[in-house]
Formats: sequence, C-alpha cells, structure tokens
Amino acid sequence: MKILVLNCGSASVKWGLYADGKSVDGGLIERVTDCAQAVREVIFSADVSDLDGIGHRVVHGGLRFSTPTLIDDEVLEAVTRLVPLAPLHNPVNLEGIKIAREMLPGVPQVAVFDTAFHRTIPPAQAMYAIDVEVAQENGIARYGFHGTSHEYVSRRTAELLGRDPAEVNVITLHLGNGASACAVRGGRSVATSMGLSPLEGLVMGSRSGNIDPAVVFHLHRVAGMSFEAIDDLLNQRSGLKGLCGDNDMREVLRRRDEGDAAAELAFDVYCERVKMYVGGYYALLGRVDAITFTAGVGENAAPVRAASLSDLGALGIVVDAARNGSAARGERLISPDGAFPAVCVVPTDEELEIANQTAELLAR
Ligand code: ADP
Repeated sequence: MKILVLNCGSASVKWGLYADGKSVDGGLIERVTDCAQAVREVIFSADVSDLDGIGHRVVHGGLRFSTPTLIDDEVLEAVTRLVPLAPLHNPVNLEGIKIAREMLPGVPQVAVFDTAFHRTIPPAQAMYAIDVEVAQENGIARYGFHGTSHEYVSRRTAELLGRDPAEVNVITLHLGNGASACAVRGGRSVATSMGLSPLEGLVMGSRSGNIDPAVVFHLHRVAGMSFEAIDDLLNQRSGLKGLCGDNDMREVLRRRDEGDAAAELAFDVYCERVKMYVGGYYALLGRVDAITFTAGVGENAAPVRAASLSDLGALGIVVDAARNGSAARGERLISPDGAFPAVCVVPTDEELEIANQTAELLAR
C-alpha cells in the first residue's frame, strides 16, 4: 500500500510517503503561513502516483472519533463543529484535507485523530469536577492529545521489552514543544495530562501547563487583562519561555550549565512537574512495567530524564547514568538490566503510525 501522510500544524507541515509501512520520502515545511499552499507544494513535488490513500493528522476528534475514519462530507462537518475546541489546529487540518481532496479526488482520505487513543479513559479521569450539566452542555471534558504518539510509543516499548502490549502497563512521557504524559494499561490509555485543550498538565516550551484557574480570574479582574491577552500569556509566553525567556530546552540546558539561575529554575519546575505525573500515574496504574521518554526533549535531553526520575529508587525507578548519558540513538533501555519498572527512550514517529493506521483501515 502506498500512503501519503499530511500533518498540518499551526506553523509547519510535515509529510511522509510510505510504501507497505516503510518510509520512502518525506519532509518538513517550516514557517508556514498558508497551509493550503504548503500542501499544494507537497502534492506537486512528491510522487503521488498510484496512491492508495492519504492519512491526515486531525487534532481534535471530540468524544465521537475513537478510531481512524474515512473522510466524507459529513465527517468534515463534524470536524468543523469541533473547531471551537481546537481553534488553532482543526482549521489548518481541515484546510489540508480540502486541498488534498480537490487535487487528488479519487484517493480515499482518512482522518487520524490526536484524541482518539484517549477515548478509553474512564469517567473518573475524563471528567472535571464541575457542574455536570454545564460540562455536558459545553463539551467540557478531558479529551487528551498526542494520542498517536502515546499509542505508538507504548506499543514499541512493549515490543522493546519483548512483551505483549496487552499485558504491559507503561507511563509514556511525550516531551516536545508541547508535552503530555499518559498512563497506558494493557495498550489502552487510562489517563493523560492534557485535557480540554493542549494547555493542561506538564510545563511546555511556551505553555504553562497546570495552574490554579483563579489565576485567570485574577489577571482579568485585578490586572485588567483581556481573555485574549491571558490566552496569549498562558499559551505563548509561559512554560520555559515564561520562566527564563527561552522556550527551547537546548538553550535552557546550555544556560543552566553556565550557572544561569533563571534557566536552572525553569529546568527544575519542568522536571518536577514530570516527576509528579510519574508518581501520580504510578499510583493509578498500581503496577508499572516501563516509563518511556519520547519527542524532542524526551529523546535528546539526558539531564531532563535524569532529574525527572531522580530519587525514586524506593519505587524501583532507577536511571543508569552511563546509559542515559550515552550518545546512543534509537529505541533503548536507560535503566539497569532487570530493573522494574524499565526506563526507556523510544523515538516517536507519528507520521508512520498515521500511515499504518490509514493502511489498516483501507485494507478492511
Ligand atoms: P513538536 O512537539 O513540535 O513535534 P519536537 O518533538 O520536535 O517538537 O520537540 C522540539 C523540542 O525538542 C525543541 O523545542 C527543543 O526544546 C527540544 N530538543 C530538540 N533537540 C534537543 C536536544 N538535543 N536537547 C534538548 N532538547 C532538544
């Protein structure tokens, strides 16, 4: 099967061409201001002859979409109705789909949702403790994101350990520009740190993650900030960026090495938040077979992995300093042999997972 994958983000378009589950071409277009134009470029430049299907990453699938879905007009309408829940993402995803349908009208198009993997989260985790009627009327619930990555990485972790994914409990830590943690029991998501939007949970490059919601009221009432300004503050000027001025972990690590106090504090706030989710999900899962780091920070930043799991020996969680610090790439164990839980690094590959899920749906 030959599958084109399109991942249209707010500022970039990632694409990949796959033949029978193997990557044959791909690329990243950055600083995109016109997603439609970027998708046109991809379709003009890539070898799109004899495509069996196109897999699109769609960020928000609401409560409805729990599996990859063949796109028709009705599905497009449903994704459009979800725009208020993902105002930065769903519109660009929709743009990409519309251009691909126009340019390659005979090719089946499949939506793979970031939220889908989390539809197995039970109500005790999915519900916010607010008036249930208000919540229901307004679709207020914990949807979760990065699902394609958590699904792929948790399955690869089980395979790395030589185990059946259905029998393994994993805490996956996707630490990229956006960051989220997920508790995976036997291959199914049972809790995740992002909620209604990708703002909740871990400290991120420029997003705050968890804060007291009263901060919003306070900034509005007392500081006179508009909701737009607070939205911008929490999404664009918070996280590492807010704490020390740099949103890129490479820069934070470099400054911390030089003794920069703000960078060190930003690092500590970031890693302690990760540690708190690991502890929480450990308690929730009861038995944890593996803890796995992925995405730009998780795959590359050894100091973040070490600090996030420091002093957890009483829980059996140990990071081997030499393994963690080695220049090795690819899927690997960074805990001592035989340690339980295992600590792993597994590079994520969302485009490959989208290609495989698309091919699987089309093969049915
Ligand atoms: P996205 O969430 O946009 O897919 P990535 O998963 O590629 O992003 O993560 C990007 C982030 O990863 C960068 O902003 C940077 O902070 C971090 N990163 C990338 N390489 C390194 C590295 N070698 N060391 C530390 N952090 C890194």
